[in-house]
Amino acid sequence: MITEPRVHPIFSANMHLVLGRDADLLIDSGMGVAPLRPYVDALRPDTERPLICLSTHTHVDHIGAVHEFDQRLVHPIEAQEHANPTSYSLRTDGISEAFRTLFRKAGYEDLWPLLIDALPWAGYDVDSYVLRGAPPTGMVEDGDVIDLGDWQAEVLHLPGHSPGQVGLFDHDSGTLFGADAIYDGPLICDDQATSVTDYAATLRRVRDLPVKVVHGGHDPHFGKARLDEIVETYLAKWGA
Ligand SMILES: [Zn+2]
Ligand SMILES: [Zn+2]
Repeated sequence: MITEPRVHPIFSANMHLVLGRDADLLIDSGMGVAPLRPYVDALRPDTERPLICLSTHTHVDHIGAVHEFDQRLVHPIEAQEHANPTSYSLRTDGISEAFRTLFRKAGYEDLWPLLIDALPWAGYDVDSYVLRGAPPTGMVEDGDVIDLGDWQAEVLHLPGHSPGQVGLFDHDSGTLFGADAIYDGPLICDDQATSVTDYAATLRRVRDLPVKVVHGGHDPHFGKARLDEIVETYLAKWGA
């Protein structure tokens, strides 16, 4: 798991690197405040091996550095946004009151003036930050398999938090990469951009998988008992 500890908790997403026999897999690419590829390559025993970057969905905290990777996968519903994402600034004064209220009601601390509380290096210009995105080089849909040679995971379409979000389930070990569909922190379901109905169906679906451990898009990993608790809490909260 790779994290961005100096990014505000709302936007501090987890990335996961899976090392395989024939290829490596990077699940999400953070905010892209600083170059990510050198950091990821330093963790790989063989940088000649292909590296697949899977974007679980196209929120800013999950596709920030995706342009640094040659193989880029996303669900077709979010392909356009992946190629040409909505622009983003590290300054938060442009974030609407509606979004601030949504975050506050979800349980997050108020936004800082910047999305980061430290600069990656002295002299870093926060206004140089752009969310570039990149055209996907391939698509993933529900039921597809990501195969690294000695490790396989099934792609799960998990709409609700975003319409084209995907997670991965490794049946052999019972490991779920739940993205922003399920993590152990305030889940965000915005009536305008997301659908409570879809999200509730997604929560029920992941609850019914033979899961042993969940690695979510934010916050630390957790087990099946906590998964059940989180799902029940949100289904009740949303009246779903
Ligand atoms: Zn996120
Ligand atoms: Zn998200």
